[in-house]
Amino acid sequence: MALITCSKLSIGYEREIICSDLNFTVEQGDYLCIVGENGSGKTTLMRTLLNLRKPMAGEIITGDGLKPNEIGYLPQQSQVQKDFPASVEEIVLSGCLGRKGRKPFYSAVDRKTVDRNLERLGISALRKKCFRELSGGQQQRVLLARALSATEKVLLLDEPVTGLDTEAALSMYSLIEKFNKENGLTVIMISHDLEASLKYATHILNIGEKIFFGTKDEYLAWTRGESAEEAGVGAEAPAEDAGTPAEAGAEPPAEAEVQHE
Ligand code: ADP
Repeated sequence: MALITCSKLSIGYEREIICSDLNFTVEQGDYLCIVGENGSGKTTLMRTLLNLRKPMAGEIITGDGLKPNEIGYLPQQSQVQKDFPASVEEIVLSGCLGRKGRKPFYSAVDRKTVDRNLERLGISALRKKCFRELSGGQQQRVLLARALSATEKVLLLDEPVTGLDTEAALSMYSLIEKFNKENGLTVIMISHDLEASLKYATHILNIGEKIFFGTKDEYLAWTRGESAEEAGVGAEAPAEDAGTPAEAGAEPPAEAEVQHE
């Protein structure tokens, strides 16, 4: 069974539906990029996947024993978060909070998890530093270490390279790729960077006026206006109800249209 299955999912606020009839699946080890215009509902979808918002309709089914607290989240950074007056160690430790239940103290296992993740991200030397004193790239590594401390299963990343320079962005992408390929971590990433999405993703979900879900090759064929059959892809065709362009009633966008921002 898929780790996450979204079926006829509608997302939104109060009575306003932002996006409806989303059908997609995420399997263990997938790298799914969510793309779409600004305001199309990508962050709202993340919040819904994280159980912070209720679906307006449809359902999200988790499988393979995935529990809601086994999803790590790297949110889009606001200025307030950038200025957060806590140490690197405290922030990474807070990733363990979701597992703690009512226990008031961090355990030895929590502290070991933190040590391991600081080391994996090459930021052990920064552990006592104040978060707000760090560079943008270092801050994102800290937040990635925090998300990894919450889970070794699924990572949800909301535009993790926004505001980073090219070098820091590349380094962030290769770290995420490493955790995906070498550790089998499932990645779900909102991205404005279509080029990077096409380089790293196994699957693409395009939301907004036009909805598409499929493998990267199917997405490329869709943007060219080809059916999967014409493009000679389909070995990894999405599940029958997984929201292919035809089922979603969507016309493929013109090539230029998918170059968001
Ligand atoms: P994206 O991440 O694709 O840019 P969002 O999910 O942030 O899009 O926003 C989708 C729409 O939902 C936007 O029109 C936005 O104004 C609206 N929206 C976002 N947050 C809220 C909220 N808390 N209450 C009501 N509407 C919201």
